[in-house]
Amino acid sequence: LMQISIPLNFIGFLYREVRQGLADIESMFDLLGVPAEIQDKPDAKPLKAVDGNIRFENVKFHYDPERPILKGVDFEVPAGKSVAIVGPSGAGKSTISRLLFRFYDVTGGAVRIDGQDVRDVTQDSVRHAIGMVPQDTVLFNDTIEYNIRYGRPDASAEEVREAAQMAQIHDFIERLPQGYKTEVGERGLKLSGGEKQRVAIARTILKAPPILILDEATSALDTHTEQEIQAALDQVSKNRTTLVIAHRLSTVVNANQIIVLEAGEIAERGTHSELLEADGLYASMWARQREADEAEERLRAAVEHD
Ligand code: ADP
Ligand code: MG
Repeated sequence: LMQISIPLNFIGFLYREVRQGLADIESMFDLLGVPAEIQDKPDAKPLKAVDGNIRFENVKFHYDPERPILKGVDFEVPAGKSVAIVGPSGAGKSTISRLLFRFYDVTGGAVRIDGQDVRDVTQDSVRHAIGMVPQDTVLFNDTIEYNIRYGRPDASAEEVREAAQMAQIHDFIERLPQGYKTEVGERGLKLSGGEKQRVAIARTILKAPPILILDEATSALDTHTEQEIQAALDQVSKNRTTLVIAHRLSTVVNANQIIVLEAGEIAERGTHSELLEADGLYASMWARQREADEAEERLRAAVEHD
């Protein structure tokens, strides 16, 4: 009876966590340990001295054998540099970030961090080295301070505040009735998408990982708010290896390299100006983005005029 009741309690606990929206993707994996299909090798050692060089070597991947998702993706992010991945929805961009975080194993090729195949090292050490700002941040039902400190549990109150300042959320927090002790999440104060985003950025600043993944980290925001947050993101990614998955091209103009992913293959790569010059998919995406931004601007002007 005992043997049965413990796992059931645990499942019940997980179920409540998820239902209450407590768990974000990282904590979900912390709670679960590891996804069923991914196991550390018996002799797995922690990742050694992380400079943060990322290498995708002819990576192939499918969730379902019938449907290849990545069909031989090959690229490198030198330590401290930034690479942006853009492309249509469903192209496989988020899949690339999941493979780097080793939520799944590749079905062909290899993913390496500083030359070490992520399958040969412990998952803990990989996840310790990477900070992820996801598209949708779900906060813990706890204080805003707890939510930021989650990035590095032993951080001092002062360090939490510094991180919040960098993420441009400190002033907002100070104006809350209970300040950093304000309860947030489903059972507390509901934060807007932009505020949650900044909490996630503060958490990641505090974690200060050598490698950053920003997966459409600002997609829920309007252009104006996104611009405000961009400065914070630029701060975090400075001198860190950064993989930016972007839906708004204006945020990737300064990336060291832009990769255009289309249906699981790299269609184009280069700097912003090289890709405009090439006049291909990126250039047409850029033109369309400009039109959309201008339309948004006109709409805003019209609304404000009324
Ligand atoms: P992007 O981030 O470029 O929009 P994704 O990497 O999320 O694309 O998804 C690529 C393709 O893989 C999509 O067709 C998507 O439906 C599929 N996919 C994503 N996650 C899963 C999953 N867990 N199981 C099966 N198919 C998935
Ligand atoms: Mg995606």
